[in-house]
Amino acid sequence: MRGPNLAKAGRNCNAATMLKLLFAALAALFFVFPAAAQELPTEADLLRHIEILASDRFQGRRPGTIGEAMAAHYVAAHLAEAGVDPGNEGSYYQPVPLIERRMTDVALDWVRVREERRDRVVPIGDDDIVAIGRSESEMLDAPIIFAGFGDPSELAEFAVEGSVIILLPGRPADADDFPGYRQRLGQLSEMGAAAIFGISEGGPSWQGTQSRYRSGRGGSADTPMAPIEGAIVEDIVMRWLDREGIDADNLEAFANSTEFTPVAFRSRLRGTVSSNIHHYNGYNVIGRLEGAGDLDERIMFLAHYDHFGVCRPEDDDDKICNGAVDNASGTAAMLEVARALGRGERPIRDIIFIATTAEEMGLLGAEHFAEHPTVPLDSIVAALNLDMIALSGAGAPVGIVGRGETPLDPVIDRAARELGRGIYDDVDINAFIQRQDGWALVQRGVPAVMAGGSFTDPEPLNAFLQGAYHTAHDDLDNGIELGGTLEDAWLHISLGRILADPSQYAPPAR
Ligand SMILES: [Zn+2]
Repeated sequence: MRGPNLAKAGRNCNAATMLKLLFAALAALFFVFPAAAQELPTEADLLRHIEILASDRFQGRRPGTIGEAMAAHYVAAHLAEAGVDPGNEGSYYQPVPLIERRMTDVALDWVRVREERRDRVVPIGDDDIVAIGRSESEMLDAPIIFAGFGDPSELAEFAVEGSVIILLPGRPADADDFPGYRQRLGQLSEMGAAAIFGISEGGPSWQGTQSRYRSGRGGSADTPMAPIEGAIVEDIVMRWLDREGIDADNLEAFANSTEFTPVAFRSRLRGTVSSNIHHYNGYNVIGRLEGAGDLDERIMFLAHYDHFGVCRPEDDDDKICNGAVDNASGTAAMLEVARALGRGERPIRDIIFIATTAEEMGLLGAEHFAEHPTVPLDSIVAALNLDMIALSGAGAPVGIVGRGETPLDPVIDRAARELGRGIYDDVDINAFIQRQDGWALVQRGVPAVMAGGSFTDPEPLNAFLQGAYHTAHDDLDNGIELGGTLEDAWLHISLGRILADPSQYAPPAR
C-alpha cells in the first residue's frame, strides 16, 4: 500500500518549509540550468559522491554508527535534490532493527553419563569453543547429536528439540542446492535445538572465528536463533566420536559416506554461555519518484551504502574499511540515476530508490525491506541492483547477474546494444546472485538483477576480490576505475526510462 505523502501535505502554511522552498528555487537557478544542458552524468559527478562517501569522515559507514547516519543523510539529501520524494510514509528512512551479540564467557563441560558410576566431566578449553547466547545468560544441559552436514530430513527420527546439534558448515559433495549454513541454522533452531555448533578445522580461520565472537556478531534482530549458537574445533568432535566407538579420521568423508546417519551421543553438554547484547537500528534510505501515470506498478533501483566501519585495530595507520568500490561506487551511480530520471519528462511508472543498510551483515537491510515493503512487492516490475561497479574500464560488455531468471534479459541486452556496448551472455556470473541485495527480492518473486560491466572482466574483478575487497585498502588512495562505472550509470538511466515506460516494457503476467 502506498503511504501518505507527508512531505507534500505539509507544504502549505509552514514558514520553515517556505524558506526551504525559496532556497530550493534559488538552488534550482544555480544548479538545474547548467546541469540540464548536459543531461548525462560525468566521471567527475560520480567521483564527487565516491570521494565523500568513502572518505575517512564517514568512518566506513558501519550500521549503527555516526558514519552510517552521515551517509544516510547524504543519500537522502541528494535524492531530495533530484526531486525524489521520501519513500517511507513521509520519511526517507526505514529503521532496520539489528542486534549485536558479543561472547563474554563460555564455561561448558562435556559430560559422559555413566550408569551406577559418577558422571565423567571434561571441561572444554576456552580455545576450543566459542558461543553466544540468545539472551545474556543461557544455561545448557542437553544431549549431543552429530548431524553431519545438518540435513533436516536426515534428522527426522532424532530428538532435535532440546539437543545440542554439531554440524559441518560446508555442503555435502554433489549437492549444489543444499541449503546454506545460515539457512540450516534457522531450520535447526526452528526444530527446537537447544544449541548449535558449527565445526571448524582450526588454524587461521579458527582465529578469525574466535575474534569475531569476541568482538561481536551482528545480525537481524528478527532472525530466530537457537538459545546458544557457536563453533567448535574438529579435534574435540573427533575425540567425542571416538568415545562413542566411531572412528572417523575425516569428518567430511564420514558425513559424505552413503551409509552415514546422524549420531546421538551418550554424552551431554553442560554449562553456561554469557554474552553482551546490544540492540540498535540501521537505516534503509528510500525515495520515490512519482510516476506520471496512475498504474499501480513501479520499478526499483537498489544500492547498499553500508560497509564495515573501523575494521582494524585502533592503533593501525589505516583502520577504516572505506568501501570505495564496495559500495560507494554503486551508491554514487544510483544518486546520478536519480538525478537524471528526476529531470525532464516524468516517467510513467513510479521509481523507487533504495539505499540499503547492513548488506555486509548478510543482506539484512534488503531482507528487512522485503519483509516490510513500503510498496507491494508484486507491483515491482523490475529491480536493478548496483553493487561494486567501479571495477572494469570503459568498454566492458554488459552481463546480467540473474540472466535467465527474469523476463528482463532482452530489455537489458537491447539497452546495452543501443549504447554501443557488447553483451556478455555467460551465466557463470550468476554465481554472485545470492551475494547481492537483489537476492532478497528474487526469493520473493520480484524480477531483480544486477546488470553491468563490473562482473564481466575477470582480470580487475579477481584482482579486487583477492586484494582490496573487504579490507582497509578498498579506498581512494590508488585511484578508482571510473570508465565502466560511468557506462553502467548511463546504462541504468536508459533502463530506468525504458522500464518505467509501459509502452516500452510490459511485464508478463505473474
Ligand atoms: Zn561487500
